[in-house]
Amino acid sequence: MIEALFVAGVDLFRMNFSHGDHEGHRKVLERIRKVEAHYNHPIGIVADLQGPKLRIGKFKNDSIALEHGQSFRFDSDSALGDEKRVYLPHREVLDSMEVGSRIFLDDGKVRIEITNKGDGYLEGVVQSGAALSNNKGFNIPGVILPIPALTEKDKLDLQAALDMDVDWIAQSFVQKPEDVQEAKDLIQGRAALMAKIEKPSALACLQEIIALADGVMLARGDLGVEIPPENVPSVQKDVIRQVRDTGKPVVVATQMLESMITNARPTRAEASDVATAVYDGADCVMLSAETAVGAYPVRSVEMMDRIAQRTEADHTYLEMMEAARPEALNTSSDAITTAAYYVAQDVDARLIVNYTMSGSTALRTARQRPEVPILCLTPDLKAARRLMLSYGVHTVHDEKGVEDFTGPARHAADIGVTKGFLEKGDRFIMTAGVPFGVSGSTNILRIGKVE
Ligand code: PGA
Ligand code: MN
Repeated sequence: MIEALFVAGVDLFRMNFSHGDHEGHRKVLERIRKVEAHYNHPIGIVADLQGPKLRIGKFKNDSIALEHGQSFRFDSDSALGDEKRVYLPHREVLDSMEVGSRIFLDDGKVRIEITNKGDGYLEGVVQSGAALSNNKGFNIPGVILPIPALTEKDKLDLQAALDMDVDWIAQSFVQKPEDVQEAKDLIQGRAALMAKIEKPSALACLQEIIALADGVMLARGDLGVEIPPENVPSVQKDVIRQVRDTGKPVVVATQMLESMITNARPTRAEASDVATAVYDGADCVMLSAETAVGAYPVRSVEMMDRIAQRTEADHTYLEMMEAARPEALNTSSDAITTAAYYVAQDVDARLIVNYTMSGSTALRTARQRPEVPILCLTPDLKAARRLMLSYGVHTVHDEKGVEDFTGPARHAADIGVTKGFLEKGDRFIMTAGVPFGVSGSTNILRIGKVE
């Protein structure tokens, strides 16, 4: 299945550490690496940490019925719950919630407004929802909780993921920049860090979070519970715009082709949703339940791939990307990648080739959203895998030493042809840094032609 998903268009696989165990994740990872070696094509792997997801306790009869207007109590008593009360195993939530605020349970299906508060308990009135069952997750929009960004489970999961050599760590329920810094300190550069934006408090300090993280996920599943649904589309546009400005990759996630969990075709609204994420300038679109537990995992990927490709080929898309193109920064690397964007248009080039060590030049090029593919040649396999998240970037793990400047152009043309991007007579743009092999030294742009 992993091979079939890869062939259908997957660039990265996410392993959700909210489910399964380390042994299971390791097996999946080994299968992905086998496919990667077989196709000689870098594949990114994202380990997604559960984060401080809040959950209620259990009920005597596993679930209860709720009635509109009834009162319900959350308390610190670990005894099994009933129609009147349930254990809420997070003392800080009981303490920090105020009368008038609301608890959203089970992805927002149940809403309870807090009407009374005492030592170790909260009392509220059910505003919507018909049932509640064991260990359901809950959200409390707008409240910044004094809870650690990484739970004990997260720390163990993080260590296991780093030991497996995953490429990205996704951090859930980031509330503030310090949360990202804490994860970074533990990761120590062994993987790239993706901050998941799913709390209103994270939106309030987005710039600082983006500055610290290596990439961002707009995690609409939880975010759509925490903020009103009508706010999600504009927030999506704003977040994507801000992340793209920095050249870091941004992922749009959740419910993208939701009905394909059970149906062979998406709804029109879902097709539009995937296309909108692409029009908004996202680097990456993600599937969750569609491929994790759905009946049509391969078809879901194929469908998403088709929608993305079709949208990118639309002239409106190209105009939108051009209209929102970020300004060049004051560095030689950015001057070169911006120039590459224009020169590629002027000479009708088919490909932009970046020689890069760390992958940063490819990020700068992707930030421009050029019309033609970006081929990134790097000797660093980890950089190649991480770049799978970035817009339009095809990476080749390329260990060949390149000494003089005729050699690299020839070499780039050969790889461009082998990978199917170039044909005889095609022009391409190549960027590199001289001397070769020094990170952060991009200072050369060359127009090549396939002889
Ligand atoms: P999750 O994150 O699937 O880990 O909850 C994505 C989201 O909330 O959208
Ligand atoms: Mn989430």
